[in-house]
Amino acid sequence: MKKIYLLLLLLLSSEIVFGWGFEGHKRINRLAIYTLPPELVGFYKYHISYITENAVNPDKRRYAVTGEAPRHYIDMDVYGDSAWYKLPHYWKEAVEKLTEDTLMAYGIVPWHINRMRYELTDAMQKKQILRILRLSADLGHYIADANVPLHTTENYNGQRTNQVGIHGFWESRLVELFSDEYDFFVGQSQYIRNPQERAWLAVKGANAALDSVLRFEKELSMKFSEDKKYSFEQRGNITVKVYSKAFSKAYHDKLSGQVERQMRASVKMIADFWFTCWVDAGQPDLQSLIGKTFSEEELKLLEEEKLEMEKNTIKTRPHESVLPGSPFPAKDACCEQYFTLTPAQIRRRAGITKN
Ligand SMILES: [Zn+2]
Repeated sequence: MKKIYLLLLLLLSSEIVFGWGFEGHKRINRLAIYTLPPELVGFYKYHISYITENAVNPDKRRYAVTGEAPRHYIDMDVYGDSAWYKLPHYWKEAVEKLTEDTLMAYGIVPWHINRMRYELTDAMQKKQILRILRLSADLGHYIADANVPLHTTENYNGQRTNQVGIHGFWESRLVELFSDEYDFFVGQSQYIRNPQERAWLAVKGANAALDSVLRFEKELSMKFSEDKKYSFEQRGNITVKVYSKAFSKAYHDKLSGQVERQMRASVKMIADFWFTCWVDAGQPDLQSLIGKTFSEEELKLLEEEKLEMEKNTIKTRPHESVLPGSPFPAKDACCEQYFTLTPAQIRRRAGITKN
């Protein structure tokens, strides 16, 4: 009986943690608005609740929409140590070299950010309010994900290094405990000359931080006994197993500002992208859209979307947020269908030799 009870708790707890966590994603999108220039800030502030609340839509869609999951990450290690230099940075060339199936198998976040950028620019050009809002919120989500170190590796939840649970630990638990102290002043948004390369730079930066993310947790785990490493907390009327405050603090200290840096980078990059889309769209007068209501068609679309979201229960990539002892399978069942080539085959195709 006790075992079943604990299992249930773990299942439940696994459904409340996401990419940057629900609250993290919302906060990042919200903060980006405040760095926009006067021509843009009015429109975005007017719709601040939409941009904030819908920051998590891409995660809600993850299991409902085919092809959604790979938009949130890229498993750089699959392509070898020099992946950043050797992988084609533009989608068309990447597809030619590696096939779309392979790219989808290991994640497409940097390319998808650029695709969203084109769409948002188009929506701004056409002054389509709902499309601008939806794409801005979505783009914010993908950019924030691209800045998370564990979104750049196949070992995304420490499942290969006996560190299961580290995903939710880094991006949700630490954020929940410490982000109130962070300094989110990132300065005004700037024009990005090459958005596709900018997306890759984010991935490169996040991936470079990965070593410390995994190593520091491992080092500290040797110093903390199981009962000191984890504790139980009350969430509403359920008890969930969490990383203890003491362990979280020790890890956060060791990372010396890393989570804050990645969160700040996300905020800045999102605002820079929105601003860039607006400039490339020919600087349309968005102020004039303030107060305008949605068209019949847009309202219908909104209603349909809402129903669709409500219908689908919210899930994460199975073991992203799950702690040891979890009942979830070790392999990501949702993506298995994409695994058509082995990593070695991929590297051969791409002309990449692992060094
Ligand atoms: Zn995500």
